[in-house]
Amino acid sequence: MRHHPDHIELVADEELVYEDNWALFDQEEYPDFFPEDTRSLRSYTSEDGHYRTAFATRESTTIDGVHEPTGICLIKDEKVVSVTETIPVDKAIPANDGSVVAIGRDATKFIGFDPTGKLVLEEEFESNAGPITISPNGRFAAVTTAFPDNAVHLYDINQREYLGRKENPSTTVVKFLEFEQVTDGYVVNTYDIHPESSLASDVDPGRTEIIDRIPAAPISNSLELDGAGIVVEGETWHHIKKETMEDVSSDLRIPGVTLDTSCGRVIEPLHADLIFQEVQQARQSQYEICSDCKSGLLSYPTEKVEKQGHKP
Ligand SMILES: [Zn+2]
Repeated sequence: MRHHPDHIELVADEELVYEDNWALFDQEEYPDFFPEDTRSLRSYTSEDGHYRTAFATRESTTIDGVHEPTGICLIKDEKVVSVTETIPVDKAIPANDGSVVAIGRDATKFIGFDPTGKLVLEEEFESNAGPITISPNGRFAAVTTAFPDNAVHLYDINQREYLGRKENPSTTVVKFLEFEQVTDGYVVNTYDIHPESSLASDVDPGRTEIIDRIPAAPISNSLELDGAGIVVEGETWHHIKKETMEDVSSDLRIPGVTLDTSCGRVIEPLHADLIFQEVQQARQSQYEICSDCKSGLLSYPTEKVEKQGHKP
């Protein structure tokens, strides 16, 4: 994906082309957005190079009686294929299928469009939002936030679903993020500093490394579990409530003593492969949580969750 914005000249006729970056628009089809024969806008290109956006970063203006609306044009192979009037945007990135995500100039509004230019995502943040990215196939979108939230928010824009929030593990804010295709889907990689930044050579090289890899899948918002974990006959662990554990803590090795798991199984700890006294140890182990325990314990937000600052 091309990371740096460039400009594009939209023209009504090839005769009007006077620089390399150009695309054609049909003045009869889009008369309002292109009141004159040309218009110069900012632009981003899709990973495969077929789609480009062209967008205005400022409010609609009227100069000498000529009204120029703000909005985003989608260009496919050097021809404008849709025009959507919207808020002034700072960045509008196309995917290989023509879906687009954009961040408002005001750094609070995050919007997404399907390949026809129809609005499919509209979110507003308290913390400043951006950078943003979209998966090359146009399915997933991600936006970062600054403090106090300091997180990555993920969306499935095809399904119009919020997938959740992942707090940034770094003490600074995310400066750049991009999707990477993996065998079973996508992950989002986040960075402290854009790896191609000219600053990168001046700072600790560690800061250009990937900070976090977030799978493009629902993100649980329940990370503060207590209790214990128990592994029996295999590769998954079951959750045991803290109170259940306390009731039998001194009797774990006594035959006949049982533990009720959060998924409703009854387990004799004497026959357990492994007992994690702290659930965090189980989470960090090589074992996966049992899917029934997981669905009962972890919740998945369906609407944006955001860490708020202290209001004065
Ligand atoms: Zn279980």
